[in-house]
Amino acid sequence: MTPPPGSLPTPRAGVLDISAYVPGRDHVDGVEKVYKLSSNETPLGPSPKAVAAFRAASAALEIYPDGGATALRQAIAAKYGLDPDRIVCGTGSDEILSLLTHAYVGPGDEGLFSRHGFLVYKINITAAGGTPVVADETDLTASVDAILAKVTPRTKIVFLANPNNPTGTYLPFDEVRRLHAGLPSSVLLVLDAAYAEYVRRNDYASGLELALSADNVVMVRTFSKIYGLAGLRIGWLVGPPHVVDALNRIRGPFNVNAPAIAAGAAAIADDAHVAAALAHNDEWLPRLTASLEGLGLTVTPSVGNFLLIHFPSDPGRTAKEADAFLGRRGLILRAVGAYGLPNALRMTIGPAEANELVVAALAEFMGRSPAHA
Ligand SMILES: *Cc1c(COP(=O)(O)O)cnc(C)c1O
Repeated sequence: MTPPPGSLPTPRAGVLDISAYVPGRDHVDGVEKVYKLSSNETPLGPSPKAVAAFRAASAALEIYPDGGATALRQAIAAKYGLDPDRIVCGTGSDEILSLLTHAYVGPGDEGLFSRHGFLVYKINITAAGGTPVVADETDLTASVDAILAKVTPRTKIVFLANPNNPTGTYLPFDEVRRLHAGLPSSVLLVLDAAYAEYVRRNDYASGLELALSADNVVMVRTFSKIYGLAGLRIGWLVGPPHVVDALNRIRGPFNVNAPAIAAGAAAIADDAHVAAALAHNDEWLPRLTASLEGLGLTVTPSVGNFLLIHFPSDPGRTAKEADAFLGRRGLILRAVGAYGLPNALRMTIGPAEANELVVAALAEFMGRSPAHA
C-alpha cells in the first residue's frame, strides 16, 4: 500500500528526478582477468612517493586532519606559482563541483552545460533544485555560440569540461575567452580541467590564468586522472577570493582526509611520474586512434587519456554488441548511452597489453561475418 502523501520524509523537489550516476564497470561475471578501461584511470598508478606518504599518514589516523588542507594547498600553490589562499581542496573534484552548484544555484535558477558534457553537472544542478539547461554541440565539441544563446536572466552557473569527457574534444583558449566575454559578470563560469595535464595543443590552456584574473571564473582540477589517486578522492579549485570564501563556508570542516592531504602533496611534487604517464599517453593516443580507424571504426579526435569509438548501426556490429564481445574477453570499456551516445564506447588508454588486446578483439569483432553476430 502506498503511504498517504506527506506521511514519510520527502526529499526536496528535484531529488527524485535524478538518475544516479553509474560508475564505469569494474568486473564481468564469470571472467577472472579483466582490464578496467572504463573510468579514465592511469595505467601507471600513483607516484611511489604518494604511496609512501599515504602509508606514513596511516600512523596517526586517530587525529583529525588539518581542516584547511594546508600542506596540500601549499604543494599545489608551489607547483603552479599561486597564492594558496586562492585554492579550495575537496573530496574529489566531484565534491568541488557539488559545492559550487549548491553555493550558487537554487530553485528557479538555471545551470548550463553542453550536450555531451560530464553527467555530474546535471545531477548537481537538479539536486540543488535548479533547472539544467543543455546547449547543443558542433561535431561533439562545445559551442560557445550555442552556450551563450542559452543564457537567460536565471542562469547562475556554466560548466565547461575542457577537455570534455566522454568526447575527448576541447575548446581552444581563445574560445574559452570568448565564452567568458559573452557571459554576464554575475554568471559563474566553471572550467573543469580534469584532463588538462594530458593535452598537447598550443592553443589549449586550462583556464588557470582566467580563474586568477576574472571575478566570475573558477578552474577545477583532480588528482584522479594523471596523478593516479582516484581511490583517495582529491580535487581542488582555484578562483576569486569571494568564491573561495563561499565554498569555505559550506564545505565540511574536514572534507579532505589526512592520508589524501599527504599523498596529494607528494604526488603533485613528483614531476617525473607525471612525465612518464604523459609519455605513455603520447605514444598510445595516436597509435590506438590509427589502429581503430584502420579497422573501419570512427574515433573522435581526443586530447585526453581516452578515446570515443563510434560503431556502425548494422546488426552484429553495434556498440552494444561490441561492449558484450569485449567484456567476455575481460576488456571493460564504458558504454556512453547515458551521455546521448548510444552508438559509441569510451576506451581509457590502458597498459600496452590491454590496448593491444582491445585492438585485436575489435579486429575480430569487425572482421567476422554478421552470421556470427
Ligand atoms: C574524472 C573527471 C573528474 C574527476 O572527478 P573526481 O571526483 O576528482 O574523481 C572531473 N571532471 C571530469 C569531466 C572528469 O571526467
